[in-house]
Amino acid sequence: MTPPSRAVSVAVPVPALGCLSYLVPEHLAMPEVGTRVLVPLGTRVLTGCVIARDATSDPSDLKPLIDLLDTTPLLPADVVQLALWVGDYYASGPGQAVAAAMPPKAWVVSERHAQITPAGRDALSGQLSEGRRQVLDLLTDGGAHPVARLARAIAETQRGPEMRQGGLYARVTALARDELITLSQPLKGSASAFKSVSVARATPHGLEMLERGQLQGARQLDALRLLSGTPSGIALTELVRHGISRDTVRRLALRGALTSTREVIERDPWLGGAQTLTDAARSDGAPSPELVLTDEQQSAVDTLGPDAGTGLFSVALLQGVTGSGKTEIYLTLARAAVARHRQALILVPEIALTPAVATRFRRAFGDRVAVQHSGLSDGARHDQWHRIRRGEIDVVVGTRSAVFAPLPSVGLIVVDEEHDGSYKQEESPRYHGRDVAVMRAKQAGALVVLGSATPALETYRHAEAGRYRRVVLTERVLSRPLPSVRIIDMREEFAEHGPDVVLSGALVEALDDRVTRGEQALILLNRRGYAASVFCRQCARSLECPNCSVSLTFHRRSDRARCHYCGYSRSRPERCPECTGAYLEQVGFGTERVEAEIAERWPDARVARLDRDTVRRQGAAARLLNRFGAGELDVLVGTQMVAKGHDFPRVTLVGVISADVGLGVADFRAGERTFQLLTQVAGRAGRGVLPGEAIVQTLYPNHYSIRYACRQAYEPFFADEMEFRTAMHYPPEVALVSAVVRAPTFNQAMQDAAELAQGARARASRFTVLGPASAPLGRLRGQYRAQLLLKGPQRGEMRRALLAALEGRGELKRRVAIDVDPLSML
Ligand code: ADP
Ligand code: ZN
Repeated sequence: MTPPSRAVSVAVPVPALGCLSYLVPEHLAMPEVGTRVLVPLGTRVLTGCVIARDATSDPSDLKPLIDLLDTTPLLPADVVQLALWVGDYYASGPGQAVAAAMPPKAWVVSERHAQITPAGRDALSGQLSEGRRQVLDLLTDGGAHPVARLARAIAETQRGPEMRQGGLYARVTALARDELITLSQPLKGSASAFKSVSVARATPHGLEMLERGQLQGARQLDALRLLSGTPSGIALTELVRHGISRDTVRRLALRGALTSTREVIERDPWLGGAQTLTDAARSDGAPSPELVLTDEQQSAVDTLGPDAGTGLFSVALLQGVTGSGKTEIYLTLARAAVARHRQALILVPEIALTPAVATRFRRAFGDRVAVQHSGLSDGARHDQWHRIRRGEIDVVVGTRSAVFAPLPSVGLIVVDEEHDGSYKQEESPRYHGRDVAVMRAKQAGALVVLGSATPALETYRHAEAGRYRRVVLTERVLSRPLPSVRIIDMREEFAEHGPDVVLSGALVEALDDRVTRGEQALILLNRRGYAASVFCRQCARSLECPNCSVSLTFHRRSDRARCHYCGYSRSRPERCPECTGAYLEQVGFGTERVEAEIAERWPDARVARLDRDTVRRQGAAARLLNRFGAGELDVLVGTQMVAKGHDFPRVTLVGVISADVGLGVADFRAGERTFQLLTQVAGRAGRGVLPGEAIVQTLYPNHYSIRYACRQAYEPFFADEMEFRTAMHYPPEVALVSAVVRAPTFNQAMQDAAELAQGARARASRFTVLGPASAPLGRLRGQYRAQLLLKGPQRGEMRRALLAALEGRGELKRRVAIDVDPLSML
C-alpha cells in the first residue's frame, strides 16, 4: 500500500496563476482545506491558502512548503468552495478569488522567530556549511529574531544575486530540525492582527489592603477604589485618563494588589461609528414600536417564511414598488432563519446604506449583528470577521464582498436592490455579488431573496420562466401614493431661455414651494463637477486627458480640470493648449454647478452635495445622509448615490436635472440603467405622511425608459427592452464574455486582440466572436484598449476558448481582462 500523498494544492494571490502544488514536510501536520500556508514562489515567499489535497502530482517533483500559519483552517471549507467556483466562473483563477474571500490582514509573511540553542552555539565552533553559519552568526546574541529580518540581513551582506528567501526558509527549517535553533510558533501574524490592551484587575489581596487601610498614597488608593468597583478590570489607558499613571499601576502590581494582563479587544464599528448609528436611529423615529405588517407584507412573509432556514435551496424575487416596506420583510425572514438555528446574510449595494439597515437589524438581534464592508477600518473589519467565524453572529449586513462572510450555516441571503450595478466588482475577480449569493445559497441550502422595485432583466426573466419564485408588493405601506411625476421637455426651455438653463421653471417653482414650507428635496444629476468639459471656440477641441480618451471635467472649487478615470488634473489654462486660442468655454454642467445655482437662488436654504468629490473620506457619505435624514439640510444635490434605497420620510420633491445623461453611453444596458435610476430616485419622494412629487427634466421626453420610469411601470418596460435585447442578441437573451487587451500602442493592442480573437474562433462551436475593436474607452491610464465580445448560449465554452487561446502566453495574459457577464461595456 502506498502511503497517502503529502501534496497539497495552494492558491496564492497572484493574477493569472493557477493553483500550485507543494509538498508538506514531514515535521508539519497535513493542513486542512482553508489553512493558510507559507510557500516559496520563485524568489518570493507568499501566503497561500490550501484548497485541496493533491493526490495526482508526483511528490518528488514538488517543492516543500515552508510553514503552516493556522492550526485550524482560517477559511471554512464551503467558503473555499465558493471562492473556487468564482475563480472558475469568472475566469480569474483561484488565487484572486480566494483572496477576495479572505479577511483583511490575512496575508502575512511569516512572523516566525528563530533563536539559537546551546547545540547551535557548539556547532558554530565546528564544521558548518556557509549558509548555516550565516544564519547562526546572526543569532549569537541569543535573542529571538524574525526570520524575515534574517532574510533581509543576509540579502544585504550578499554581493551576488539576491538571496532567495525561499531558500533561507528551507535552511532555517533544516536548522530547526537538527535542533541548532528553535522556531517560535508561527501564529503571531494572525494573532497580532487582533488588537490587545492591558487590563488591570484588583486581586483579593489588594482588596484586603484597601479595606485595612494599608495603601500609601492617594493615587494608589484611587486606583484600588476604582478597581474594586469594576471586577471585570479597567484598561490601563482608561486608568491614565483618571490620573493614575502606569508607574502607580506597576507599584501596585509589585505589591500584589493588582494584576495586569493583555487582552484582545474587539474593534467595534458600532463604537467608531457611534454617532452615525445613533443619528440613523434617530432619523427614522424614536424606538419603533413593532410594526403591524401590511396585508401584502404578511402574505410575502407567509409565502417565503417557511423556506427560511429549512435547508432547502430556493430563489425568490421580491418585487416591491419603492416604499413598499421590503426591509421589514427581510427582518421577519431573518427571525425565521435564526429561530431555526441558521444565520442570515443581508447584502446592500452601498457602504452608505449599511448603517441604516444594520441599525434596524441591531434593534431586533442586538449585538449578534456584524457588518462587513470596505468602509470599515481593516482592524474593525478583521475583528468582525473573526466574530462571524467564531459563530457569535446571527446576522451579517454588508456590501458585495460580505457574500463570502464565514457564517457557519447560512439559511437566508437577502440581496437588497439586486439590480444595482455596485454588486459587480470591476476588478479581478470580476464577480457579481448577487449571482455569487445565489450560488452560495445553492451550496448551503438557503433561501435567497432578491429585492427590488426594478429587477435586473436577468432576474425578472428567471422569475418569468418559473426558475425564481416571484412575490409582488404593488402598494406602498399604509396605502401611501406613489409620487406623481412630471416630465419637462428641456428643448422648450432652451428655446425660450437659451441653452444654459440648469433649473427649469417648473423645478424652480416646486423647489420654492418646498423651501417655503420647510420640506425636503433631493436633486439628481448623474455627473460630477462644475462643467462637463472645456471647449475651445477657435479649434473646436476640448481639453482632453493625456492618459485617457475622455475630456476633462472642470471643478470650480479646486479650480482644476480633472479626469474622472485616472485622476489626472491640471489647472485651468488661460489659452487652448492646442491652438493657443483665447476663447475657452465651459460646456455642460454637473452637480457642483447645480448646487451652486440652488445655493445662490435660495441663500437661506441649507444645501449640500453628495457625490464622490464631497465624500472621499471614510464615513462621510453616511454622515451627510444622516444630517439630511435628521432634517439638518433642506436640499441634497447628488449623483446616483442619492437615488439608492434611502428612506427619508420628509422628502416631498425629487428633481432630476438631466434624465438622459446615461442614454448617450455606448452600452446596450443604457436604457435599463436609466429606467432603474429614474424609478428609484422618484421613489425617494413621498415616503412619509406627505405625498411626493418628482420633476424630470430631459431632452428626450419620449424615450421609452423615461416614460415608463415616470409611471413606475416595470412590466411594460421589461417587455419593450426584452424585444430590443432579443433582436440584437444581447443578454439576457445570450450570455456575454468580454476580453479587453491593454497595450502601450494602439496597434499592439489591436494585434494582440486579433490573435486572441483568432484563437477563440478556432475553438468556437456555438458562440460568435465580435471584434477586435477599440474599446469605447479606447485609452485608459496611458494604455490603449482593444476589445473582443463573445456571445453564445454557454459561458463555459467561451471562457474555456479564451483561456485556451491564452495558454502559455503569460505576458499577454497579464494584459487581458476577461469579464464574464460584464456590466460595464466601456
Ligand atoms: P422599500 O425598501 O420597499 O423601499 P422600506 O423597507 O425602506 O421600503 O420601508 C419604507 C418605510 O415604510 C420605512 O420608513 C418603514 O419603516 C415603513 N414601514 C415598513 N413597513 C411598515 C408597516 N407595516 N407599517 C408602517 N410603516 C411601515
Ligand atoms: Zn485620465
